[in-house]
Amino acid sequence: MNVLLIQPRSGFQLRGITFPVCRDLMMTATFLKHHGYGVCVWDRCISSKLPQTDFRADAAILFLAQSSSVKDAAAVSDRLRAGGIRVIWADMVAVIGAELPDALAHCDFILTGEYCFTALELLQTIADGADAADVRGIAYTKNGQTVFTQKRPLPDLSELYPIDWTLIDVRKCFRRFQSCRRMLYLNASVGCPYSCGFCSTPFCYGKRRKRPIAHVIREIDVLVRDFGMDGINFSDELLLFTEDELAQLKACRERLGNSFVWGGETRPQVLTPELLRQMYDAGCRWLLFGLETGSSEMREHVRKPYDPAQVRAVTDCCTELGIAVFGSFIIGFPNETKEDLLRTVRFAQSLDLDAYLFNYFVMIAHTPFYEQVNRESGYRFHSILEFDDVVNTDSLDANFSAVPDKALAVVKAYFDYLTITNKKETAQRRTAGSQFFRKAINTAAEYLRSTPSTAFIGLYSICRRGFGVPFYLLAFPGLRREYGLHKKRR
Ligand code: SF4
Repeated sequence: MNVLLIQPRSGFQLRGITFPVCRDLMMTATFLKHHGYGVCVWDRCISSKLPQTDFRADAAILFLAQSSSVKDAAAVSDRLRAGGIRVIWADMVAVIGAELPDALAHCDFILTGEYCFTALELLQTIADGADAADVRGIAYTKNGQTVFTQKRPLPDLSELYPIDWTLIDVRKCFRRFQSCRRMLYLNASVGCPYSCGFCSTPFCYGKRRKRPIAHVIREIDVLVRDFGMDGINFSDELLLFTEDELAQLKACRERLGNSFVWGGETRPQVLTPELLRQMYDAGCRWLLFGLETGSSEMREHVRKPYDPAQVRAVTDCCTELGIAVFGSFIIGFPNETKEDLLRTVRFAQSLDLDAYLFNYFVMIAHTPFYEQVNRESGYRFHSILEFDDVVNTDSLDANFSAVPDKALAVVKAYFDYLTITNKKETAQRRTAGSQFFRKAINTAAEYLRSTPSTAFIGLYSICRRGFGVPFYLLAFPGLRREYGLHKKRR
């Protein structure tokens, strides 16, 4: 049986396969290949044409890793089904949207949590022409009603295989990032032990499960030796290696001539100066901390408590070692007040970060905040296609906070400006600001190489963001004063 695994085109992510959550596509493709299936991976973010024109698919699995890919997924699925191909949807967006009335209008089945073993069993059921009712972990339509079968437990990741990167053209997936010219997203774990109010990871991926470090190192060996990879951005929700794993990573790096560096997202609370030293020695050169808010009340509300003094100490320790630190904040949380936002501004200003990534709050289904806002105001999604319109954390599509839109926009513009003009030297001896400029230029170049309509939409969004920064800063000096947005404080 031949299976086509598709990464649908995303509204603002050109090289989709390398985007963090697409790890599920690669893990499933590798798993099915090991079990004797003919597989072909089609990344529509890279090409609108099927990579193997002679590949005759019996079934297709689309991985909806990003909300902005729903419309493309629906259009491609409709075409495939019209050609007699059974279509399955998987990944985070399909999982959180499975209950919506039109989710199964564009596909035959949805995998509702686990992908590899479920896909294997479902494909066999399809091939046998059997009833899917006994396949655990799927949703499908029967007599006009959506049926959810029994939940399937999430597997131990040692039951899977090291990812087969020959299934895609890896060179087309490399990105420039920090000092790296050929950075790729890999992952060493899946899931998260926390349960932040705005995040659907716990619902979709459950508690943190680690991949065997031997699998990760085998992938690194192949990617560095055969493809020249020089950077890894680990897409783990919580990047955390043990001392032994760090020693193995360090040995791998030395064996490969110290030719790659790595980083990822973690929480400052799990880091100590000694662990950071070991991470640096093993090649860690950047870390992202999801700090979200400077208000202790909001941190409780968001379910992300931490000690700001400890965050400051960890950030300073990273800087001393030569590890760049990116801090991510969310503004516009439900019920966030002006005082909460002021505390976030002051807290961010007190940190010596390489980048201040300020994002607007975006509502995601199946999160505690979604349930809360639904109870309080009746807000809810009616169609899975709506996901496509409300996911851009750079644009304020719906403001659930008590802070006016303009104040949120001015605060965001200020920290964008701070990031661009930041003079802090990163581990690679380049200012973060110049890197963000380069990133914008590279992204614009990628857009120009794509189709005319994508190029237009992409360039428009870059220009809108670029002009938005000076506009909000110059047009609202009163708000700048009100929120103390004039200088970085330590
Ligand atoms: S925001 Fe991060 S730390 Fe919080 S639940 Fe999601 S993945 Fe875990």
